[in-house]
Amino acid sequence: MRGFLTQIAAGFALALTGIAPTVSAQEAAGGWSLAIHGGAGTIARENMSAEEDAAYRASLQAALDAGAKVLAEGGEALDAVEAVILLLEDDPRFNAGRGAVFTWEGGHELDASIMDGRDRDAGAVAGVTTVRHPISLARKVMTDSPHVMLAGKGAETFAAEHDLELVPADWFGTDFRREALERMKARELSALDVDAKFGTVGAVALDRNGNLAAGTSTGGMTGKRWNRIGDAPVIGAGTYADNRSCAVSATGWGEYFIRVGVAHEICTRLRIEGELLKDAEAQSAAASGATHFISNTFRLRQAIVDEVLAEVAELGGDGGVIVATPDGATIFSFNTPGMYRARANSLGLQEVAIYGDE
Ligand code: ASP
Repeated sequence: MRGFLTQIAAGFALALTGIAPTVSAQEAAGGWSLAIHGGAGTIARENMSAEEDAAYRASLQAALDAGAKVLAEGGEALDAVEAVILLLEDDPRFNAGRGAVFTWEGGHELDASIMDGRDRDAGAVAGVTTVRHPISLARKVMTDSPHVMLAGKGAETFAAEHDLELVPADWFGTDFRREALERMKARELSALDVDAKFGTVGAVALDRNGNLAAGTSTGGMTGKRWNRIGDAPVIGAGTYADNRSCAVSATGWGEYFIRVGVAHEICTRLRIEGELLKDAEAQSAAASGATHFISNTFRLRQAIVDEVLAEVAELGGDGGVIVATPDGATIFSFNTPGMYRARANSLGLQEVAIYGDE
């Protein structure tokens, strides 16, 4: 049942590229789309040098290209998501893998999750300390264990048994993140004061076969204690994918994202809205009604995602999400000044952005 919504997506995607939305449903079918993020937060032009700005954009572009290549060649959404996150986990600019924030004790505890929209299969790991690529471990949990989530020592044992690459604990550390921990301890600041931005990474993808996937990887929040686990590895909070509705990856103040169940909440609302639209389509035999529904739908989906983020804000949290839908649209929403983000699709869309006004 891709006809009506596919037309909407074609129009939406083309609107983003500035081309008139005249592509037919056939042309859009078999297309792919990808959105990625590198965290949200108080990311403002005045706090970034031109070099830093350029370096972040280059990192995002490289990760976007890696995922886009997989999808353009007909690869799976899951592979694209993993390809993106592998690069961002190795990139010290982001709070995932290398470059992860420090715990209160001066170590690293990494969380990640991945989800397959085809059958809602999912894998997650929490509090791992020696696995170079937590996203790959999360995928192994999904494919090679009967479980969804493994944590701590057990997750490390599982990683070793499945030949995941292990690295010395100091692989993840960077001076920048160590200073953040020291500032936090010295001045009794909160994680939000020193982090200023969340650097979690994530990706959502739609492949040429119409399958969605989502993945998220993080070091959590600076100075976390007591084996604190955020939203990133919690399926339904930081990550969710369901071919019927959407794929979501989140970044932000994890406790609030867990409480709202952000990723699942977005997918549920979009699914119900999609069902209502299908009913409306069935009832509306007149082609003249289609334009009306289409233009309303663009606003509607962005508004639905924004509403869920508004619930996070109402409770006192902040952050952002990236969303991909089965018909090729990608949606960004954040209630922070900026979010490192990028997207591409098979219709030629290419976009890298950082600040809220881009
Ligand atoms: N959501 C992550 C957490 O709470 C933090 C982040 O987005 O950077 O662990």
